[in-house]
Amino acid sequence: MARVELDNLRKVYDNGHVAVEGASFEVGDGERVVLVGPSGCGKTTLLRMIAGLEAITSGTLRIGERVVNEVAPADRDIAMVFQGYALYPHMTVAGNLSFALRLRGMAGPRLQARVAEVARLLGLEEVLSRRPAQLSGGQRQRVALGRALVRDPQVFLLDEPLSNLDAGLRAQMRLEIARLHQRLGTTMVYVTHDQVEAMTLGQRIVVMSEGRVQQIDTPMVLYQRPANRFVATFLGSPAMNLLRARMLRADAGWGLALADGGQLPLPARTPVDPAWEGRELDWGVRPEHLLPAGAGGGDAFEAVVDVVEPVGSEIHVNLRLGEARLVARLPPGDPPLAGERLRLSLAPGALHAFDPDDGRALT
Ligand code: ATP
Repeated sequence: MARVELDNLRKVYDNGHVAVEGASFEVGDGERVVLVGPSGCGKTTLLRMIAGLEAITSGTLRIGERVVNEVAPADRDIAMVFQGYALYPHMTVAGNLSFALRLRGMAGPRLQARVAEVARLLGLEEVLSRRPAQLSGGQRQRVALGRALVRDPQVFLLDEPLSNLDAGLRAQMRLEIARLHQRLGTTMVYVTHDQVEAMTLGQRIVVMSEGRVQQIDTPMVLYQRPANRFVATFLGSPAMNLLRARMLRADAGWGLALADGGQLPLPARTPVDPAWEGRELDWGVRPEHLLPAGAGGGDAFEAVVDVVEPVGSEIHVNLRLGEARLVARLPPGDPPLAGERLRLSLAPGALHAFDPDDGRALT
């Protein structure tokens, strides 16, 4: 096992495109870290730099105590699992699993024992003599994982390993990967664009946008204390509501006057910086912090129901407040009707404030 340390990593492709800028963080020994961000944010490039598949333009990369900037991929003691599995189609599962070990000169009973051990770990014993085309998507994915596992590397790198699977299988494999990691304790860096996968798999998450790391923390801290507007709206489903509004002081207390019309009274205990008075800021409210009036929030306000999405365990209600759009996560029950006026209030402590220019969190 080993820790991975990135110090100010930068990647400029030959065409001048800066794919990664100033990436600095550490993946602890045995830690499971997820890199997440929208398509094109540079997460795959960063993972490939760790793997040695992409040259590092500047900065320092360490695996264990060793600087590996110039070390060939095969000598980094890492194993990578790719999105497309990259299984050898003409080889059996056993052949695929043993290939890397045979390349390293392992043979005979030792090789067989190692392959059998990994097959058992991944539930592949029954399919060892099949070829990839004769496997289900989940089984193929397990073989791809198994090929990385057999080598017992210091670090696992996984690039969107579940994206070819359907939703049910993806959730199941996600659990299997977490379980496997708990058992093996190998340092793991996992890339995905899927925020649910990131939240459920990451002991810590690195959120990236436009080549830059936006925030690094545990899933709960990222959710509760996003460092900026990007992180706030990227994590969470439905996404955090964002409203541009001026904070105003009225007789009854503080309230928000929305740029799109409409007013939002703030709960009495909302922490308010008096310097914000009259300033136009971006305000964020998670959908679960819009409560039915009388359910413990602040003063009520009315919004008009636009579209209702009952998702079983809760109801997502899309609303209009003036010209602004809001979504509320309400408890299951009788869904409101489109066009109905719904009385809601804000949960105390629910507001996030962001600088409208650079998106930095102010609360
Ligand atoms: P995705 O989820 O779509 O794979 P990503 O976050 O992994 O996206 P990267 O593949 O790392 O993003 O790409 C980052 C940026 O670098 C993108 O704008 C991409 O177009 C660009 N890029 C990737 N590979 C190259 C290359 N070989 N030459 C030039 N630009 C590249």
